[in-house]
Amino acid sequence: MRISDILRVKGDEVVTVTPDADVTALLAVLAEHKIGAVVVSADGRRVDGIVSERDVVRALAARGVAVLRERVTEIWTEQVRSVTRDALVSDVERLMTERRFRHVPVVEQGALHGVVSIGDVVKSRIDELEEERSSLAGYITGERT
Ligand code: AMP
Repeated sequence: MRISDILRVKGDEVVTVTPDADVTALLAVLAEHKIGAVVVSADGRRVDGIVSERDVVRALAARGVAVLRERVTEIWTEQVRSVTRDALVSDVERLMTERRFRHVPVVEQGALHGVVSIGDVVKSRIDELEEERSSLAGYITGERT
C-alpha cells in the first residue's frame, strides 16, 4: 500500500492556516475540522510549517493563556518532514513511530497534496492485514474469498 491509496479514499483536501493566524484561530480550525494538526502555509500550497495540539499544550503549560493571542509561528515546527504519494505506508508508519509525530504532509514539486495522520496509517495497515488474513484463510480452506 502506498500513500496515494490512502489519499484516493480520503481525498486531497488539506486544511491550512496562514503564519499570521493566532493560536485562538488555530484552535477553532482544529475543533471545526476535528483534526489534531494543521499545515501552516502562506499561500495554501507551500508548507511553511506544521502546528499540532501538542504544541499548544506545551506552550500553555510553559506560558499560560497569553499563548492564545500569540501567532502560530511562536509555537510551530518549521522543519517539517513530508513524504511523496508513492511512499510506502509501512515506511511512513516507521517514520511516525521513530520521530514521534502523528501527521505527515504529502508534498510533490513543492506543492501540498494532502496530510496523512497516524489514524489513516493504522486504518490502512488493518485493511491490508485483513485482506492477507482473508486470502490465507481462503487458501487453507480451498475457498477463494
Ligand atoms: P503530532 O504528534 O503530529 O501532534 O506532533 C508532535 C510534534 O511534532 C509537534 O511539535 C508538531 O509540531 C511536530 N510535527 C508534527 N508533524 C510533523 C512533521 N510531519 N514533521 C515535523 N514535525 C512534525
